[in-house]
Amino acid sequence: MNSLSVLYTFYFLLSTLIFMDAYELIRGAKRIVGFTGAGISTESGIPDFRSPNGVWAKNRIIEFDEFVSSREARIEYWRQKIESWPEMRDAKPNAGHLAFAELEKQGRLRALITQNIDGLHQRAGNTRVIELHGTSVEAGCLSCLSRIPMNEAVRRVEAGDPAPVCERCGGLLKPATVSFGQMLPGREMRLADEAVRDCDLFLAVGSSLVVYPAASYPEQAKYLGARLIIVNRTPTPLDGMADAVLRDEIGTILPLLVQPV
Ligand code: ZN
Repeated sequence: MNSLSVLYTFYFLLSTLIFMDAYELIRGAKRIVGFTGAGISTESGIPDFRSPNGVWAKNRIIEFDEFVSSREARIEYWRQKIESWPEMRDAKPNAGHLAFAELEKQGRLRALITQNIDGLHQRAGNTRVIELHGTSVEAGCLSCLSRIPMNEAVRRVEAGDPAPVCERCGGLLKPATVSFGQMLPGREMRLADEAVRDCDLFLAVGSSLVVYPAASYPEQAKYLGARLIIVNRTPTPLDGMADAVLRDEIGTILPLLVQPV
């Protein structure tokens, strides 16, 4: 055996041990809080907004105040929305999303907190989803808070209404995502906080865990006695406090981790 194959064998054994650790932790957990970021949806073809080719790199970012105060900004915002909508609308949940649906079916998922706005967790079958950054599959009225499906809003824009308003009250209609400069939704923040305090295992998937408040959840869960598993392609600042860190493809490893005994 040359030194490379010794190294490879060692690496293989080590990853098997880490996998078994994570598997046992998940199997023993009763109140799991899942937490997902862009990484779980890139495998469904949805680009990470923060990546060099992402939406934020290509387009002028319109902050919330500007959306509210300028019709021109609203027109540009909706134009960007229309451009990215087909990709979002046609994306399908992947094996990673389905693994979280399986955990919920097993009755062991306390909540699923997500930074994603693509609605793929719900389409995979999860009902206990907390969307910290809102959703792009609906548009909401900023005045009366009523919602309509994004398909309907897109149809109105394409039919020649470049900055649509609410049909009930005339308020400004905006994709129901959280914009820069807009407050995170209070109800979701509260629900996420409650779930984090009540979990026995925190499973962070596809997030670099650097954006606050999201990054504080694993820390808080760990501090309160829960175990922590991180599945992400690149290192995160919280790897050092995790009970297991896995670097595999999410759609490959998650289904193996959550399969029933
Ligand atoms: Zn309204």
